[in-house]
Order: sequence, then structure tokens, then C-alpha cells
Amino acid sequence: MKRIFTLIFCLIMTIGLSQSKQIQIEFIGNCGLHMTDGTTNFYIDFPYKSGAHGYMEFNDSELDSIQENSIFIFTHNHSDHYSKKNLKKVMKNKGGQTYGVSNISELEKLGESIENFEIQAFKTDHTVFGISFRHYSYLITWHNKKIYLSGDTTEPETLSQMEEIDLAFVPYWILKNAKDQNITIDAKMFAIYHLYPEQIPSAKENWGEVENIRPMVEQGEIITIELETD
Ligand SMILES: [Zn+2]
Repeated sequence: MKRIFTLIFCLIMTIGLSQSKQIQIEFIGNCGLHMTDGTTNFYIDFPYKSGAHGYMEFNDSELDSIQENSIFIFTHNHSDHYSKKNLKKVMKNKGGQTYGVSNISELEKLGESIENFEIQAFKTDHTVFGISFRHYSYLITWHNKKIYLSGDTTEPETLSQMEEIDLAFVPYWILKNAKDQNITIDAKMFAIYHLYPEQIPSAKENWGEVENIRPMVEQGEIITIELETD
């Protein structure tokens, strides 16, 4: 009996440790991500409207697989990032909390109540055909790991003012604009998201072999960040 207890105890310890040692970020499509440390579940710019503006589609099963009581964070309300209808359905079935342009101050307070996470919001520019839309980019810090979520903004300045980003999710135009404007960005790794389906072959060709750039071309692919323990 004692041995069984020890075994179970060891298993629990192992599960407990492996949960707190890494964060997994699944790419769902567009800027849609599912980020979890095994305890807290974040969805960023998801659910959106499948196929909106010619961007990526997803199966209904993707909505069904959303974790209960998750935290939904949106950079802005355009349909390739946000669907009121899909979100309403998910919130009804699974519960959760929603944050975005209309309740940013609440979002920044949220980090205080979630273990191991800190969330900062930055007002960033998103102008389409001369019209400026309310838009936020986010820095999520998990333990000492910094993950930046750019969203649709075209300006690289906000990101360039940060130090030692571990992983920056950016559309390709952020890298292009940074280069054109001679702006350097201090990030270990760039995940390029928000590609049109037809841009995927050239994204693979251009960045597939680049060490610090990972194009988000495969819906469902997962990036894992490990916490160094010493
Ligand atoms: Zn967009």
C-alpha cells in the first residue's frame, strides 16, 4: 500500500512540475493563439470569424475544444481577430472572461490575480484607409519569459522599446517596417503570424531556414517555452 502511495505521489509531483516548467502556445490561425501553462488558459484574437477577409479558416471543432473558464484577449474588434457570435457561443458553453479595447484597465489588473502571469497593454496604431481603429498590443510575462503579441499594428516602435523579448508574434510587415525605418528589435525569436493562405509557400521559402524566425504556416502547431531551472 505504501509503495502504491509513493508511486502516486511521485506521479503527481511529476505532473505538477511539468505543468509549471513550460508554456505552450498553439497557433490556431490569423493572430489566434491558445497559450497555457497547464493551469491558466489564454486565447488571444480567437475566436475570430473563420475565413474573414480571405484569411485562415478553422473547423467548428476548434470552438468545441476551447478550454473551460479561459481568458479571451483581443487586440481589436475586426472580424479576422474577433467574432462576437462565436465568442458568445463559447462563453455560454464554457464560461470565461473577455478583455479587449473596451476594458483594458481591467485586463491590466488581471495579472495581479493570476499566478505567474503579468499582462501589459500598449495602445498601438491600426489605420485602414485613413481610419484609425482602437487597437492594443500586449506583453505577457510568464515567470521571467516575455511574449509579445503585436496584432495588426504596422508600427514597430512599441516593440522596439522593449528589452529581451523571448518570443514576439508579429505580422511580416513589422519586420519589414523595422528594417525600412532602421529600427532594431530585441527579440530572441520572431513568430510571423497573420499570413494569407496563399502566402504560406513563400513564407516557408523565405523564413523556413532562418534560425530566429518561425513562420506560422501550420494551423495547430505548438511553440513551447521552457523555464530554465538551475
Ligand atoms: Zn487582421
